[in-house]
Amino acid sequence: MINKIQIKECCGCTACKSICPQNAIQMKQNKEGFFYPVINENNCIECGFCTKVCQKTIKTSSNYPIETYAAFSKNEKIRSISSSGGIFGSIADYYLKNGYLVYGARFNESFEVIHAKVNKDVESFYGSKYVQSNLENVYISIKNELKDGKKILFIGTPCQVLGLNNFLKQKNCNKENLLLLDFICHGVPSPLILKNYLLELEKKYNSKIRKVSFRNKTYGWNLFSLKIEFYNNNTYIKNLKEDAYLQGFLKNLTLGESCYKCKANNFRSNSDITLGDYWGVEKFLKDYNYNDDKGVSLLLINTLKGKKLINILSNKIVKKDINLQDAIKYNPCIIKSVKRNKKRNKFFNDINNKKISVTSLMKFYTQITFKEKITKHMKQTIKNMLEG
Ligand SMILES: Cc1cc2nc3c(=O)[nH]c(=O)nc-3n(C[C@H](O)[C@H](O)[C@H](O)COP(=O)(O)OP(=O)(O)OC[C@H]3O[C@@H](n4cnc5c(N)ncnc54)[C@H](O)[C@@H]3O)c2cc1C
Repeated sequence: MINKIQIKECCGCTACKSICPQNAIQMKQNKEGFFYPVINENNCIECGFCTKVCQKTIKTSSNYPIETYAAFSKNEKIRSISSSGGIFGSIADYYLKNGYLVYGARFNESFEVIHAKVNKDVESFYGSKYVQSNLENVYISIKNELKDGKKILFIGTPCQVLGLNNFLKQKNCNKENLLLLDFICHGVPSPLILKNYLLELEKKYNSKIRKVSFRNKTYGWNLFSLKIEFYNNNTYIKNLKEDAYLQGFLKNLTLGESCYKCKANNFRSNSDITLGDYWGVEKFLKDYNYNDDKGVSLLLINTLKGKKLINILSNKIVKKDINLQDAIKYNPCIIKSVKRNKKRNKFFNDINNKKISVTSLMKFYTQITFKEKITKHMKQTIKNMLEG
C-alpha cells in the first residue's frame, strides 16, 4: 500500500483510489484543505496496485514538443472569456460539434471546482480556476467510456494528466481515442483557502456570489483580474497585484506541498498538447495581432495525435512558430517547480486561528518586508555591477 511519504507529497490525482479493487481508498481533505488518499486498512488486501500507479514511485520520461506556437482562437468571444488565447475553447468546440466527449474543470453550485463532463455548458469550463480541482470518479468514467469506443478530450493539470495516464496503463486501456491536454502549471492553491476567501467576500458584500472569474480581461490579459459578481449586483474586481488570493497563488504561499516538487512538469505528463500563456510575447513577436492584450496562448504540440488535431483546426486558430527557449524565459514553470514560500508553514498554521481572516493572513504573508526589499535591492545592484 502507498506509504506515508507518498501521501505527504501526494498531488491528489486519484489514480490510487481509482485503481483500488477493494474500494479501500477515499479522497479526503487534509487540514490544509487539499485532497489526499485515506486508506481503510481493514479493506486493504495489499495487492500493491496503488503503489504501481503512484507518480511518486514511477519514473516518467519527458515527451518534448515536436512543434511550438504562439496562438489564439479566431473566435473573438471564446478568446475574450478564456484565460489566454482560447485554444482550449476552440478544441472543445470541435470535439462537441462532432459528438465527442469533453472533460474539464468547472465550478459547482457552491463555487467548489470539480472535474466533470461537458454537457451543453461548455462556457463554464473556460478559464483557469486557481485551486485544486476535485476529480471525483472521472478517471473511472473515462476508462469505461474508452472501452465503449467513445472519443474523449480530457484537460487538467500535468499531475492530473500523468495520473490518468498511469491509471489507464495499469488497466491496459487503449488510449487511441483519448486526447490529453494539460497546461503549464504554477501549482494549485488549497480549496479550503478559496472557500474561506469567497465566504469572507460574501460577508463583506452582503450577498451570495453569482459568478467568479480568475482571469477577467477588463484591465487586459497581462494585468488579469479576479472578478466576482454578486446576486445583489455588486461587483468585486482587483488585478493580480491587488487581490490577496491571486497574490497568495502567485507568491507560492497557498499551493499544495507536492507542487514544489512536481513530478509531471517538463513534459512528463505525456499529454498530447500543452497550453499556457505566452508571457513575454511582445519581446518576440512585433505583429499587432499578438500584442492587443486580448490573450495569446502557448501551444506546445507533443505528439502526432496532437499535431493531427491542430491541423484540422487550422482555419479556427491563428498561430506562429516560436522558440520554446524564449517562452521558458518568461514562463519557467514549463520546466521547473516554483520555490516553496518560506512563510507557507506559518500561514497554514495560522488559518486554524479563526480570529484572523484568510484575506488578512494572505495580505500579511505576501507583503514584502523592509528587510526583503533591501536584500532584493542589494542583489540587483551587485548583479548590475557584475554585468558592467
Ligand atoms: C492552477 C493553474 C495554474 C496555471 N499556471 C500557469 C503558469 O504558470 N503558466 C502558464 O502559462 N499557464 C498557467 N496556467 C494555464 C493558463 O492559465 C491557461 O489555462 C492556459 O493558457 C490555457 O488557456 P486557454 O485560453 O486556452 O484555455 P482556458 O479557457 O483557460 O481553459 C483551460 C481549461 O483548463 C481547465 N482547468 C481550469 N482550471 C483548472 C484546475 N484548477 N484544474 C484542472 N483543470 C482546470 C478547464 O477545463 C479549462 O477549461 C495555469 C492554470 C491553472 C488552472
